[in-house]
Amino acid sequence: MSWAAGVLTLFPGMFPGPLAQSLAGRALVDGIWSLGVTDIRDFGLGRHRSVDDTPFGGGAGMVMRPDVLDAAIRSVADARPLIVLTPRGAPLTQGRVQALAQGPGVVLICGRFEGIDQRVIEAHGAEEISLGDYVLSGGEIAALALLDAVIRLLPGVMGQALSALEESFSSPLLEYPHYTRPAVWAGRAVPEALTSGNHQAIAAWRLAQATTTTKMRRPDLYHQYIASGAQAP
Ligand code: SAH
Repeated sequence: MSWAAGVLTLFPGMFPGPLAQSLAGRALVDGIWSLGVTDIRDFGLGRHRSVDDTPFGGGAGMVMRPDVLDAAIRSVADARPLIVLTPRGAPLTQGRVQALAQGPGVVLICGRFEGIDQRVIEAHGAEEISLGDYVLSGGEIAALALLDAVIRLLPGVMGQALSALEESFSSPLLEYPHYTRPAVWAGRAVPEALTSGNHQAIAAWRLAQATTTTKMRRPDLYHQYIASGAQAP
């Protein structure tokens, strides 16, 4: 059984979009995951297939109607987790991505305009997830990012399973920096430890890089790392 993604959107032409390329694209062709896209407009009201209305309480913009979205959700919802992409949501984490990859799939709701009537989110017990602390013009790019993060973890998608384990956010530390040939480029040499052939020295150098970078750039993650019992370098 393939991992089943469902997307509810006013812009079905945005899918699979970039997910038709590279690893995700090959996995889609291979049937490792599947994609069902629902056009919310198909459930719109009246001659104009209207999906939105002005906000109660006033203010700029339009809000997506609960009755229209409810009909769209009912047409696809099943046992899969139901997620609304919204800047009001909990920030997406690698932990949530891993849990989703282990499940049957996901149904994603992409907002547009000022957002979605809160009652339909509550009525379906949908989880609210944000891509980060900035505002996109719609949920589609957030949905594509979430799907990309999950799909690369599905069994058979990435050749080297180890690289998924080692990289940033599987541990609380940011990853160490990468280098490849040539050993000297534009007058810059690769760090000596990496060309030493000494595996212990390499591991120590990488850990030191990971900890100092994390401490500087992401004190929040660094505190998690120390709290998990690791030695401060
Ligand atoms: N009025 C809202 C912004 C709406 S943006 C506010 O100020 O909070 C329109 C849609 O884009 C949202 O409904 C949501 O689906 C999507 N969106 C915007 N930013 C997002 C983010 N950071 N993460 C996930 N979805 C986002």
